[in-house]
Amino acid sequence: MKQFLRKELCCGCGACAEACHTGAIRMVPDQEGFRYPRMDQTRCTDCGRCKAVCPMQDQPAADRERSYYGVQVKNEAVRVSSTSGGVFSVLAEYVLRLKGVVYGAGYGRNMEVKHRRVTEPAQLFWVKGTKYVQSNMEGIYSSVEKDLLEGRWVLYCGTPCQAHALKLFLGKSYDRLLLVDLVCYGVPSPHIWGSYVKYLERRHQGRMTDFVFRDKRNRDYGHMCSYVIGDTEYVKSIYADPYCEWFFGNYTLRPSCHECRYCTVERDSDFTLGDFWGIEHVRTDMDDGMGISLVIAHSGKAGEIWERIKQDVRWFECGKKDVLQPRLLAPVAAAGKRRLFMMLYRILPFSLFIKRTERKALRRDSRRDTT
Ligand SMILES: Cc1cc2nc3c(=O)[nH]c(=O)nc-3n(C[C@H](O)[C@H](O)[C@H](O)COP(=O)(O)OP(=O)(O)OC[C@H]3O[C@@H](n4cnc5c(N)ncnc54)[C@H](O)[C@@H]3O)c2cc1C
Repeated sequence: MKQFLRKELCCGCGACAEACHTGAIRMVPDQEGFRYPRMDQTRCTDCGRCKAVCPMQDQPAADRERSYYGVQVKNEAVRVSSTSGGVFSVLAEYVLRLKGVVYGAGYGRNMEVKHRRVTEPAQLFWVKGTKYVQSNMEGIYSSVEKDLLEGRWVLYCGTPCQAHALKLFLGKSYDRLLLVDLVCYGVPSPHIWGSYVKYLERRHQGRMTDFVFRDKRNRDYGHMCSYVIGDTEYVKSIYADPYCEWFFGNYTLRPSCHECRYCTVERDSDFTLGDFWGIEHVRTDMDDGMGISLVIAHSGKAGEIWERIKQDVRWFECGKKDVLQPRLLAPVAAAGKRRLFMMLYRILPFSLFIKRTERKALRRDSRRDTT
């Protein structure tokens, strides 16, 4: 494996490190807090497996017939606790009913974001909801492979680069794998997220146990965020939260996200899920502020499963042109002052960094483009 000349060439999925049979590759965070592979040349046997599983060196399939839907889960409690229309939960419950396993991004003990394995409906809340942080996939590729080899159904949901990496890691198709990827704006730095969690914990003198990035209590498609520290819940607009402000201002995304090759409907997964942007122009009767999912079914397997779950949702079929939101057309550009921002992150104490990067300080430069 060559070392990266440009950071944009690595999406940080970690498949290369997990695929390496000699343990020659480790994922190591850089100064911005994104993980990159580091190679120990003395242990490398040049087998080429790291290249074979790299999604950045492969091309997703383009020549497929696809179906496009707008979807809302009928169970309102599920929809309220989901980011969009709650389709992920419907698919996950279906797979759990088959005694299968679900993988999604959840919080760890210190609020770090990582993929987790779920086998019971009562655990689903671990992996529900969007987390605007790059999730750690360590150990997940092998765990999915083991479940599949044991003959279990597996639903995996993640960013399109992670889902594509998983497909390459497995190296062959499995009838019982349901691969789900997301429409994705980009993933922010895990270290900046970790610093922000610690900052809030210091400020409120307690331990954080939850952070909801898209809280829908105002029936506004989740333009509030909320978090719990100790026994107290804190709620604010996402535009008043510095972490969300940096994310939407394009300061904290991984460099590869600005050149993302998955900003298209042409994916290799079974389903793609996202927010149905522009629903107000397509179906006003479903535009209620509580979330509607965009669902793209890419495969025959997706078509079969759709037939089995569609009684649990309100839905309509539409055309490709109805769903083409900006993130299915092109990646977001980095903020002009991203370098300055990251430099300040490296050198300033975090509380000072927050003051220095407050909304008004960054506003002059911000290219706002919310998900
Ligand atoms: C970083 C990020 C950016 C996004 N940007 C857009 C966008 O620009 N446009 C758009 O239409 N939709 C975007 N989405 C997708 C959208 O927010 C919803 O996740 C999606 O519509 C599914 O919602 P749901 O209601 O079906 O289920 P939810 O219960 O909300 O399920 C969310 C699913 O996403 C997975 N997930 C959550 N966080 C992460 C993460 N950090 N990494 C990998 N997987 C994760 C969870 O495991 C779960 O499977 C983004 C999601 C993420 C994580």
